[in-house]
Amino acid sequence: MTTAHKLSFDVQLSDHARTAAERERVLANPGFGQHFTDHMISIDYTEGVGWHDARLMPYGPLTLDPATSVLHYAQELFEGLKAYRQVNGSIVCFRPYANAARFNTSARRMAMPELPEETFVESLELLVQTDREWVPTTEGHSLYLRPFMIATQVGLGVNYPSRTYKYMVIASPAASYFAGGVKPVSVWLSTEYTRAAPGGTGFAKCGGNYAAAFVAQRQAVENGCDQVVWLDAHEHRYVEEMGGMNLFFVYGDRLLTPALTGTLLPGITRDSLLALARDMGLRAEEGRISIEEWQAGCESGELTEVFACGTAAVVTPVGSVKGADRSWTVGDGTPGPLTLKLREELIGIQYGSRPDTHGWIHKIC
Ligand SMILES: *Cc1c(COP(=O)(O)O)cnc(C)c1O
Repeated sequence: MTTAHKLSFDVQLSDHARTAAERERVLANPGFGQHFTDHMISIDYTEGVGWHDARLMPYGPLTLDPATSVLHYAQELFEGLKAYRQVNGSIVCFRPYANAARFNTSARRMAMPELPEETFVESLELLVQTDREWVPTTEGHSLYLRPFMIATQVGLGVNYPSRTYKYMVIASPAASYFAGGVKPVSVWLSTEYTRAAPGGTGFAKCGGNYAAAFVAQRQAVENGCDQVVWLDAHEHRYVEEMGGMNLFFVYGDRLLTPALTGTLLPGITRDSLLALARDMGLRAEEGRISIEEWQAGCESGELTEVFACGTAAVVTPVGSVKGADRSWTVGDGTPGPLTLKLREELIGIQYGSRPDTHGWIHKIC
């Protein structure tokens, strides 16, 4: 058999969906990740059977046995992408097949089953079509989509990965991630903690990476900074990421972003900005930068801008840097021109005011 079994979704609409007035109240001030739409997707997996029981159902709590594997051993992974209402009224996603592919890369690392890319994208389409009224019309707002997968086997044995899993998608209307728009963030260099080590799970989008990061993020805040910057595990010298975002360093018309060594999360925003920078005639390179080079570059004026990027916060300038024994400012601490130009270009493609020359836009309805 070469034809893959195509899952069909059972559709069970909510009988307690929010009224238009209730929805508008949420959409007036959605925040980030605090409110959810009326429906969700669920697909189950059983070893030997494959994926089954695909359904769209009313949003609501799960009932899990206290001995469910994910609650103890964190065999879990997730994705994050957005549905945008474009200027012509269409609702679209940005590169959803890239998220589908990364979901499966994460799944392989976590010894979890892969989901066919078409099923992943179809699940997003069904949820967004059903809850399309929840896609904000306010400029810069979007519907954040959160696909995830958990190990559902009941039992505390650890000699074999779970034999059953649940894939789900939930959706949350979102304002800008960092309140205050393109305000530069201050970052804390974490030399005490490590996010990811070679051979570990740094390239996989799994909850465990975040669980281990909260203590460092809290330390950043205690030191008066907004975000933590992760360094390499060996020497605590080479820059890897900022919180849940990738980093770019701008030297005039040359951009540098840390190479994907296996300890970094391969961001789709990162990949898209590398392409857009090249479209603009800039040199965009993947390489390595130490904190000494970062500081020296800012002090000599050679390193003109630094920004972080990711789906949730798009492009966010980095204004100042602080570590245990040093601190410095990037440029004059305000958002740089290339940071703002790349941000505008990407947002323009996502919202349909700029041409999509790379075929990144996936129309949903
Ligand atoms: C999701 C994520 C990113 C950004 O990825 P995008 O695909 O651009 O949203 C960067 N770093 C980490 C640790 C992440 O989890």
